[in-house]
Amino acid sequence: MDDIRIESLVKEFGEERALDHVNLHVEAGELFFLLGSSGCGKTTLLRSIAGLETPDHGQIFFGDREMNKVPTHKREAAMVFQSFALWPHMTVGQNIAFGLEERRVPGKEIRERVDDALERVQLAGYGERTIDQLSGGQQQRVALARALVVKPKCLLLDEPLSNLDSRLRMEMRSEIRRIVKENGLTGIYVTHDQEEALSMADRMAIMDQGRILQVGTPEQIYRDPLTAHVASFIGETNLIEGEVESIVRDDRHMSVRVVSSAGFFQGRVTKANWRPSEGTPVLVSIRPEAMYIDDSRDVLNRVNGVIEESTYLGRSVQYHFRGDDGLRLRVTEVNPHWMRQPGDHVAVLARTRDVVVLKH
Ligand code: ATP
Repeated sequence: MDDIRIESLVKEFGEERALDHVNLHVEAGELFFLLGSSGCGKTTLLRSIAGLETPDHGQIFFGDREMNKVPTHKREAAMVFQSFALWPHMTVGQNIAFGLEERRVPGKEIRERVDDALERVQLAGYGERTIDQLSGGQQQRVALARALVVKPKCLLLDEPLSNLDSRLRMEMRSEIRRIVKENGLTGIYVTHDQEEALSMADRMAIMDQGRILQVGTPEQIYRDPLTAHVASFIGETNLIEGEVESIVRDDRHMSVRVVSSAGFFQGRVTKANWRPSEGTPVLVSIRPEAMYIDDSRDVLNRVNGVIEESTYLGRSVQYHFRGDDGLRLRVTEVNPHWMRQPGDHVAVLARTRDVVVLKH
């Protein structure tokens, strides 16, 4: 098992800078996610780690070994693709054995390792079937077995579940996590599916335009986003423009009081290197599920207004709310006592601990 370090990686395609000085440390044995919207550079970063792209600048280390000049097949990193990339005319066993034959592993050992790989993905006994006799989920397992059979230290997965239907996707999430953990692998997983990342990742990096915006556990990223882009990319959030009125400190972190045309807010500052002062323009970020409708008299983190639309979703109700000054908010009430109707005048509130104040 190796950790993976990326230092100041740059990759350009003509005018396009796909990776812009990326620094990253993935711990040994970790299942790490690269997440970001289309074209942000996730696949380019993964392919650079695999040795399928040559970076223009920067270094890649597996443990203490620099990998830049090491060819793909000697990196002990196996890649699984979105398309599975299986050969349809070959049997399952032949597909899995292919990489070993290329490495001139003796026949007896090949058979043992193929059987072992099939067992690891819970497909023992499927070696003689052809690929077209398998379901999508089984094909994905074969693709995983083919990656595992070369005994990699690192498993690189590029949107491995996006060709599966939603039920299979859910099943394979825990299956892939199990395979990475049981085989002691360092896993790097590319997706633009935030739910997949939140539910599977030990840690993740949010990327945008070839840069890494934030690295953290799913909970850190969701609860303490550092930028408005991260806050709105992971989950949904309400962003309210305002400016800092005063700085409030407590023992653990700085919080600030914000004045906006919708009212007064107070929340945490999540970015350690950002020092707002009075008058600094900010965005207040509050998740829809952190807002609630209440008749309390609090003035802080409160907006008065009217319900414009309400949607009943069983365990929750979603509201479109318009504040008296025109501010539009999304509010999700879980297990509500009763459902408010369009036209109802209400106040929506949030607890200070659920309010994050971000740089504008
Ligand atoms: P997606 O989620 O759509 O797969 P991504 O985040 O994986 O996107 P990349 O595939 O890494 O993004 O692409 C990053 C940028 O580099 C894009 O603007 C893309 O057009 C460009 N790019 C990637 N590969 C090539 C290539 N072989 N030739 C030219 N441009 C490329």
